[in-house]
Amino acid sequence: KVKSPLEIYRYLPQTNCGECGYDTCMSFAAQIIERTVKPTDCPPLVKEAEKNPKVKKKLEELIEITSPEVKEVIIGKGDKAVKIGGEDVLHRHELTFFNPTALFYDVWDTLDDKEIDERCSKVVEYRKFYVGEFLTLDGIAVRCTSNDPKRFREVVKRVAGYGKPMILVSLNPECMRAALEEVAEERPLIYAATEDNWREFLELALEFKVPVVVRSKDLNKLKSLAVTFKEAGVEDIVLDPVTEPVGEGLKGTFERVIQLRRTAILGEDKDVAYPIMITPIAAWALEADEVSKAYWETVIASIFIVKYGDVMILHCLEPYAIMPIVTLRYNIYTDPRTPVQVEPGLREINNPSPDDPVFITTNFALTYYTVESDLTSGNIKGWLLVLDTEGLGVEVSVAGGQFTAAKVKDLIKETKIEEKVNHRYLIIPGLAARLQGAIEDETGWKVLVGPMDSGRIKGWLEQHWPP
Ligand code: SF4
Repeated sequence: KVKSPLEIYRYLPQTNCGECGYDTCMSFAAQIIERTVKPTDCPPLVKEAEKNPKVKKKLEELIEITSPEVKEVIIGKGDKAVKIGGEDVLHRHELTFFNPTALFYDVWDTLDDKEIDERCSKVVEYRKFYVGEFLTLDGIAVRCTSNDPKRFREVVKRVAGYGKPMILVSLNPECMRAALEEVAEERPLIYAATEDNWREFLELALEFKVPVVVRSKDLNKLKSLAVTFKEAGVEDIVLDPVTEPVGEGLKGTFERVIQLRRTAILGEDKDVAYPIMITPIAAWALEADEVSKAYWETVIASIFIVKYGDVMILHCLEPYAIMPIVTLRYNIYTDPRTPVQVEPGLREINNPSPDDPVFITTNFALTYYTVESDLTSGNIKGWLLVLDTEGLGVEVSVAGGQFTAAKVKDLIKETKIEEKVNHRYLIIPGLAARLQGAIEDETGWKVLVGPMDSGRIKGWLEQHWPP
């Protein structure tokens, strides 16, 4: 598979016409690798392919070599649709992972309408602020526990009103048909085709043009189901190797998932190169108390966020269960090639006066938001200088030469902080203590070494400010 812009460039018209929104064909090629554009976003290439069979073949080849190893499947439609799969590598440091594990929380059709509304609202409203972004949940899995097509259809319609992508969960083709007649337009994922019901589910997937999960613990059977669906014309397939929640069962699940993804990427086996479904909700079948079940659900979700779970069905909507899952997902799916960073410059914390202290930190998002939130929540008034350390934290950037006295001097000048305060004291992080003398020499400011941990700034100020 292609990983260099130069290889892609050979397939493009090379006229630098700019119609794609990029100045040159080479920058367009680089964007194809980043997956921000597709080969078909080059209008001259598409137009030429319509007229000339040779160019058409070239375009098809380009699409083939630039398409991800694992098929990308879309659940839902419009702005709220969620993409799953589409991965190229086994380990994120080899490139990056592209589509974060999609998290679907369940409602079931034997709940009353009020309870359904409560659970749906929790899914829609969940937001957790983390490193400058809000982490959210992706969708709702509607389980048919009534085995009644009419009730399932009603509930599915109700849930569709919340505008989130949906997974429809029933092994009964009649119930599934009733639900699809109501919401197929929303492009739900249907769960699941098994050895017993696959013929009916194949018909449903073709008739309603919706993505489908095929399910089997036996990987040969799973592959054969996927091949049957593909050959019949279903493109959007998700594999469920069956999640077993504990002991040998969990170990077996882990091994099946690893084998599937390794076969897809290393073995280049297109028959299993589909997104993988994990159902941590299986933990709720254990004989245990509620908190233990939630605990195991979170453990299973965490294992498979790290290893190849592309979409999950979960149950527990308690913040203590969701928080570790969404935080881990964020960290695994952050692009390792670009550190998460914030704009450098000057921030005013709690409307500071000219007498208030001046702090400095780095523009690594995790460091910045920790310091900013410790200052804000501690009701500390102050001026916060944010140094461009290329997104690196304090200790690493001091060692690596991104946090230097000369750069601090430039930042003081650029931000005009000297016009805003009537003192010349700069509080540096404890981890940058070794720069104290150099910054004093370079800037003429008096440097105070603050605590190692910004959570201690409040106590530190009580002893050291005013100086
Ligand atoms: Fe090159 Fe196509 Fe973009 Fe024109 S539209 S610059 S030919 S990639």
